[in-house]
Amino acid sequence: MIKEKKSLKASKSPSRRKFFKTAAATGVAAVAASSLAAPAVAQERVEAAMVATWPRDFPGLGTGAQRLAQRLSDMSDGRIQVTYYAANERVKAFDSFDEVASGNSQMYHGADYYWVKKHPAFGYFTACPFGFTYSEINAWIHHGGGQELWDELTDDFGTQSFIAGNTGVQMGGWFNKKIRSANDLKGLKMRMPGLGGQVLGKLGGSPISLPGGQIYENLVSGAIDATEWVGPWNDEAMKFHEAAKYYYYPGMHEPGSMLACGVNKSWFTSLTKSDQTIIKTACAWADEITMAEYNAKNGAALARLVNENGVKLEKFNDKVYDAFAKGAQEVYDEVQQHSDLAARTHAAFVKARKEIGSWTNLSDSPYISQRNRALGIS
Ligand code: CA
Repeated sequence: MIKEKKSLKASKSPSRRKFFKTAAATGVAAVAASSLAAPAVAQERVEAAMVATWPRDFPGLGTGAQRLAQRLSDMSDGRIQVTYYAANERVKAFDSFDEVASGNSQMYHGADYYWVKKHPAFGYFTACPFGFTYSEINAWIHHGGGQELWDELTDDFGTQSFIAGNTGVQMGGWFNKKIRSANDLKGLKMRMPGLGGQVLGKLGGSPISLPGGQIYENLVSGAIDATEWVGPWNDEAMKFHEAAKYYYYPGMHEPGSMLACGVNKSWFTSLTKSDQTIIKTACAWADEITMAEYNAKNGAALARLVNENGVKLEKFNDKVYDAFAKGAQEVYDEVQQHSDLAARTHAAFVKARKEIGSWTNLSDSPYISQRNRALGIS
């Protein structure tokens, strides 16, 4: 910090300004001369293995990760070759992080809240209860200090993570009974990972974390009573409607789940600056294109679920939501006790949620509500 302040001060001095002006003017000539003198050096071929927490070809999650791997090759004319492995093709879904941290593979595509048992702060870097929406979390990560905290967290494990997708606001989940009050959640065995699952635990439920590929069989067999997954487009592909009829919204637990591309830090820093930039840029592109795909496909999938499959759409009432909020506060009180980093991450999250959220409250929320009311869009 002190160093930054000094250089900021120095840049304001007249002599410093003059130096920059001169350097900028001569820099053009210097670059031109060097490009004439030195022939371009061919960049080295880069080979990387990318493991993932998603089933192969799974809509949005799997296909989004596969698209990112392909994009890296396309952006480099095939010089960067990423071999993609879906869940269980090289390692199990939840072993992806250790696989990359150990250096056995170079990249993973997943959701960083799967690693909350390693450190609870990971929960803030996918989605957390009463947390950010897609546009809000991108504001925090890219412009509000979120990436710096994320880097600090992953640095201890020898990895680094970048935003590489988002599912948007997730649905509350699939149930076999109506949820009229928090009492209805007591004793419920529900698949819900991350800090959201811990909130369910505070309300007397039993949260279970299962990778996507194992949820359907557990729901059908009755090993779990309820599940959340993502939203209509993804949930329809999972065929949860065959095992549960009540489909609740909105999910408090994942209001904008940010997907991550994690890299082995020492491998990543060994790459050239331009290759690092290609990877980071491809991840940012994957974020945008994935979110767009969810937004494009969720509405039609929801209509099919309701109209063709007899799914009953239900909204959590205020009483249930207030109970979720109370449970979330208890979880956050515990998370902050874990470590200095967890406490600082939580404080930064709360501050950003207030600042960014107050703008969302005046912009997206009332506009959408008024547009849909005036035009009769429901
Ligand atoms: Ca989910």
